[in-house]
Order: sequence, then C-alpha cells, then structure tokens
Amino acid sequence: MEYRTISQDSILKIITKKDKLFGGDFCIDTYQNCEYGCKYCDSSIDKVIYVKLDADKILEKKLRNIKKGVIIVGSVNDPYQKSEEKYEITKKVLKIIKKYEFSCHILTKSNLILRDIDLLKDIDCLVTISLISLNETITQIFEKNVMSTKYRLKTVEKLVNNGIKTGVALIPLIPIIIDTELDKIVKISEKYKAQHFLHKFLELKGDQKEIFLKIISTNYPSLLSKFKELYKDRYQLEWTIVDKYNLKISNLCKRYNISEKIYFQDNQYYPK
Ligand code: SF4
Repeated sequence: MEYRTISQDSILKIITKKDKLFGGDFCIDTYQNCEYGCKYCDSSIDKVIYVKLDADKILEKKLRNIKKGVIIVGSVNDPYQKSEEKYEITKKVLKIIKKYEFSCHILTKSNLILRDIDLLKDIDCLVTISLISLNETITQIFEKNVMSTKYRLKTVEKLVNNGIKTGVALIPLIPIIIDTELDKIVKISEKYKAQHFLHKFLELKGDQKEIFLKIISTNYPSLLSKFKELYKDRYQLEWTIVDKYNLKISNLCKRYNISEKIYFQDNQYYPK
C-alpha cells in the first residue's frame, strides 16, 4: 500500500438530498480510498491511500461560516483505517467539530474509534459500526483485513457503556449468503446494546460486479448463477426483493426492540 499526503481546498461536502439512511447535512472523508480492502467496496480498488493532512484546518475555516448541522464522518472511506493510528486526521477533525458544536455521525468498522472515547463524550455524536456476517469464514472472504465481527460488537458495547449513542449497520447486506443468519445478526446486535440497526444492500457498480462475481465463483460456485441473475443488467437488487428483506428486517427490529432508523432534529440525534 502506498500513502500520499494531499491538500484540498474544500473538504466538507454538502448533502443536497437529505440522506435518509445516515441522516446528515454534510459529509467529510479524512482519507481518500481505504486500506481495509473489502472485496465488495470500490474504495478499495486503488492501492494508494491519500491522507488529507490539513483536513482540520480547512474544515475549521468552513465551520466558522456555516449554519450548524450534522456531519457524516466517513461517508465513503473508513475514518479509522490503519493510517489513522499514525496521522490522527479523524481525531483532529473531531476536535474541530467539537469546537464549533456541530453534530456528527461516524461510520466505521474499526475499534480504533475507542481511542477517541473521551473526545466523543463531549460531542453530540452518533456512531454506527458496520458488519456483514457473524460467520468468520464469510468475513474472511469479503473483508479479511478488518477486525472480526465479535470485536466490532464489543466496540459497540463499549461505546454504549461510555454513553455514546451507537448502533450497528448490516452494510452491505449480501443477499442469499447471509439469509440464514439475519435473525441472529439482529438478535446479537441487541445483546451488545446496539441502539439502532441500519442496513443497505450490496451494490455492484462498474468493475465491482466482475470482481464480486469472481469471488462468488471461487468460494460459492453453486451460487454463481443466482448472483448473475440477481444483478443481471443492474447494479442493485430488484425492488420486490428489497421489499421482502426490508419487511423481514423491520419485523426483526421490532422483535428485538432496536430502532431501524435514526432521527436527527434540531441537530440532535433521537433514538426511536
Ligand atoms: S472499511 Fe468500508 S470503506 Fe474501507 S474498504 Fe471496507 S467497506 Fe470500503
């Protein structure tokens, strides 16, 4: 992996269409590309990680002059990827978010976020830890550089125990492969005190489709034709299939008493 530092004039993007899933007004990525290299993710295709060294300074100039809102931290690339141990760009950005009293929603798969617990306690922040499966064989196939699901769930619990609003996201929801464990995933999220449970379906855009189908062909040859059919001429699942999964997850969230949505109002996060 190669690391390059970059400087940018603008780092905070305005979300024009309200993000229904993550609920933000703005988004910021402290790194460009992601070294975790998850097989379903297009942030992992490029082998160069661009470190946005002066992200905090650029953000500070911006936040001085805009109306408060919710900033999604890590909308495209993980803000707690390994480089963060060394560069601490995300930590510096969070300090600016705290200074200007903005709210934020942090998306990550890493327990490195625990390093910043004391800082997070002083910010109106929401954390979502994402996972794809409880089965370590499956996670090894698709996201072998990321810590195990068990540690991610322990991270959720630790954050909640420290008063930080935290939930789980099943992202991406890989159809067929995780069908038999959907119930267990929601149940165990509740056991580890997750306050919300979000999900987003696998999308296969551009080169990602070929890469993904190759992995299926190697590891699940009997499922290859099903995946080809599911994503034939499209990068998303058909709406009829999406609706079935949505209904199932909604029922599971009710059964295990976890909010399936997050709400922001007056720049504050409200659980259901
Ligand atoms: S951790 Fe997130 S951003 Fe990084 S490669 Fe995996 S899915 Fe993509």
